[in-house]
Amino acid sequence: MIIIMRKNASETEITDVVERVKAVGFGVHLSRGVERTIIGAIGGDRAALENISLESAPGVEKLTPISKPYKLASRDFHPEDTVVRIGNHTVGGNDLWIGAGPCSVEGRELLLESAQLVRDGGAHALRAGAFKPRTSPYSFQGMGEEGLKIMAEAREQFGLPVVTEVMDTRDVELLDRYTDVLQIGTRNMQNFSLLKEVGRSSRAVLLKRGMSATIEEWLMSAEYIMSEGNHNVILCERGIRTFETATRNTLDLSAVVVAKSLTHLPVVVDPSHGVGKRAFVGAMARAAVAAGADGILVEVHQRPDAAKSDAAQTIGPAAFQQMMHEISAIAEVLGRRVPVSAAAHV
Ligand code: PEP
Ligand code: MN
Repeated sequence: MIIIMRKNASETEITDVVERVKAVGFGVHLSRGVERTIIGAIGGDRAALENISLESAPGVEKLTPISKPYKLASRDFHPEDTVVRIGNHTVGGNDLWIGAGPCSVEGRELLLESAQLVRDGGAHALRAGAFKPRTSPYSFQGMGEEGLKIMAEAREQFGLPVVTEVMDTRDVELLDRYTDVLQIGTRNMQNFSLLKEVGRSSRAVLLKRGMSATIEEWLMSAEYIMSEGNHNVILCERGIRTFETATRNTLDLSAVVVAKSLTHLPVVVDPSHGVGKRAFVGAMARAAVAAGADGILVEVHQRPDAAKSDAAQTIGPAAFQQMMHEISAIAEVLGRRVPVSAAAHV
């Protein structure tokens, strides 16, 4: 249930409603907008709430049941866009956010070189995996903690926040120490223990859409994270499985507009995993920005053909520069912008 307070409701009236809601066994989430405060009552027995006739309580304008299964993630609950801060930049506001880098950390020299490349190209964060979810157990599995240390060094040297995937609940604490954004990969979108664990961290979480997940299931996964207290969730569309085999996945750009209508959380797009082919990445990045995505997560490597994982979909320095140039122009038409990276001055 959401309780919408009147525009001029006093603090005492708000507190009074909160206390009454808690007294009948509900959890409370307060959303203080510029206009008015919305009180979300979560988890209790609806009949008990109806019994206390809140609609006639001082300061209350109206009560609206939330029909959706996700509450904290729902736009009904929190009408204004959530803006997540990552280092000196934000995701979800007017500014677009660009995370770029190789699929995986391959070694110290190579990663530092990539960090410099994406920094010079204008990225706001460096992406790379140290723990890699590979389809085959015989493929390169990532450098593990050593890889995290290299990422931390790149962050230090180039002033770029880092985004990296966490695959196991046992590693959350470790990753929390080294990274700025914890990425939940497509294969783990419904790993509920992992979602709860990152929900207890204070790091921003980039939640990729499961390759066979509906938008509602994706939002329920965001709800798992938020229900543990971490509201810094960024959704990432990365393509879904369809009958089509010409591309690695089918990048569902309608998911950007649909998700943004249902949730206040930022939505970014990963065109690299979305299509799986280098030649199509730039066009899909442009389309994603045109559709209203809040940012792009893209695989970039100084020598893409030599990348240890996902080489076929990794773009090189020139294509990255071109992508940045084109999406900046599209952003401008939409009244948004790709801000100059704070790391450019480090
Ligand atoms: C990645 O970002 O390299 C990755 C493994 O992504 P996904 O989980 O979307 O496949
Ligand atoms: Mn990859």
